[in-house]
Amino acid sequence: MLALATLTRATSRSATSRLTTLSRQFSLSAAAMAPISKETDYLVLGGGSGGLASARMAASKFGAKAMIIENKRLGGTCVNVGCVPKKVTFYAAMLAEQIHDAKSYGFSLEQTAPFDWPTFKTKRDAFIQRLNGIYERNLKNDHVEYVHGWARLLSRNEVEVTLDDGTKETVRAKKILVAVGGNPTVFPDIPGADLGTDSDGFFDIATLPKKVALVGAGYIAVEFAGMFNALGVETHLFIRHDTFLRNFDPMVQDAITAEYERLGVHLHKGSSQSKVEKDGNGKLSLHFKDKKNGEGVLKDIDHLIWAIGRTPATRGIGLEEAGVKLTEKGYIEVDEYQNSSVDNIYALGDVTGPVELTPVAIAAGRKLAHRLFGPEEFKNAKLDYNNVPSVVFSHPEVGSIGLTEPQAIEKYGKENLKIYNTSFPAMYYAMMEQDQKGPTKYKLVCAGPEEKVVGLHILGLGSAEMLQGFGVAMKMGATKADFDSCVAIHPTSAEELVTLK
Ligand SMILES: Cc1cc2nc3c(=O)[nH]c(=O)nc-3n(C[C@H](O)[C@H](O)[C@H](O)COP(=O)(O)OP(=O)(O)OC[C@H]3O[C@@H](n4cnc5c(N)ncnc54)[C@H](O)[C@@H]3O)c2cc1C
Repeated sequence: MLALATLTRATSRSATSRLTTLSRQFSLSAAAMAPISKETDYLVLGGGSGGLASARMAASKFGAKAMIIENKRLGGTCVNVGCVPKKVTFYAAMLAEQIHDAKSYGFSLEQTAPFDWPTFKTKRDAFIQRLNGIYERNLKNDHVEYVHGWARLLSRNEVEVTLDDGTKETVRAKKILVAVGGNPTVFPDIPGADLGTDSDGFFDIATLPKKVALVGAGYIAVEFAGMFNALGVETHLFIRHDTFLRNFDPMVQDAITAEYERLGVHLHKGSSQSKVEKDGNGKLSLHFKDKKNGEGVLKDIDHLIWAIGRTPATRGIGLEEAGVKLTEKGYIEVDEYQNSSVDNIYALGDVTGPVELTPVAIAAGRKLAHRLFGPEEFKNAKLDYNNVPSVVFSHPEVGSIGLTEPQAIEKYGKENLKIYNTSFPAMYYAMMEQDQKGPTKYKLVCAGPEEKVVGLHILGLGSAEMLQGFGVAMKMGATKADFDSCVAIHPTSAEELVTLK
């Protein structure tokens, strides 16, 4: 890492006068600004999925002089407190399930001790640390300068960086990308809410809990609840309505909610929370109301996790001062080319909101690098946000691309749709008793006389790996006939998607 403080200072008279003009323009006092210590072509705020991908592409493919400012750990949310440690934990939960299932196949596996969470966590943390190192080396290999510090926009061309030792430097850039992501939404306004934690805190849990409570109906709450439950933790999931994953097709919502109940997750439907207290034994009590129990108190909770949404990290980074427009929900307003309302300032990834997924941030970042620094042929490069596949690492996994059935009805009209459904026990369950079998359910939503596949929704073992290929087909505009023309792979679950009647 190259600290800015060690860089040659390049404050010229003309730079200072430009600075003063810009300071006036953005109502900032020139006296408050550190001297310009560095100039670059492409300054990226945030070393997460989108920022890293964009800076590396700009520098390695198009030779741009690029710099990244990151105030925490390289890799951002996904690598440090998101996809990666989450998926590793999902694998642990999956193994727990398989150890249990193995008995049905004739194995005599007996766990002689509970899951060793502390050892698992130490190894998981070490894996993430290795990734942080790899990301730093990748930046070096691609000649992207990396500065560890807190970035704040001063103008459309200047960013103030507060370094780890508290000193401030100013970087001047031809183009600035804001890819600062988001944070878990602050706790709700009830007494004791901050006794709980959020999704970042999930990754700090040091020992295997006995009892947890999660609040939220989005994929993060659902994934965490599934993992805890599979690892033998008494798991309470508080949701506001009757189902969770409410952005998904109703088939998925209903089936996965029912499956969580079957698996023993304590679902508190139609619930709200009013107070959290710390008991004498160090555990938490959650006062709540739900549809089934009315008023209640859940005691002896080891961890309460609020997973009630995420907020874009747009506060206090000079966006308003630089004239960058935000949406009502606080996201940076961008057009389809990731242009913000201010020339030279671009934004993408979670800070812009439309689809908060790592590959979306990466793809948008790479497209933008092509458009800004690539040859003429890329001058209109932009990410197509349609038909982005997404999965939830629930138990079992679910996946979805395109329109849900209600969305398709709204777009095409019911009379112009043909819906194909199937539900069957995956062959994995062949050796199991009826009450041990998980669901597998698929749905195709087809539109128009040609039956173009406009929505695909799957729930069952292996859905996450299965979805990518079907995503390619849908991007190519596949019809039901195209699906049917592909010879099935037998015996798989996926074959059902090309033989739907
Ligand atoms: C628990 C969880 C699980 C997830 N699982 C998945 C999954 O399975 N699959 C998937 O595709 N997505 C998943 N996501 C979403 C994914 O992590 C995000 O969509 C992705 O990280 C967004 O990338 P980004 O570049 O926009 O922002 P981020 O990755 O959040 O990066 C932004 C970076 O900017 C830094 N930063 C912020 N402000 C400043 C500043 N002023 N100065 C300097 N640096 C700053 C931050 O420290 C951060 O490192 C998950 C998220 C969570 C929370």
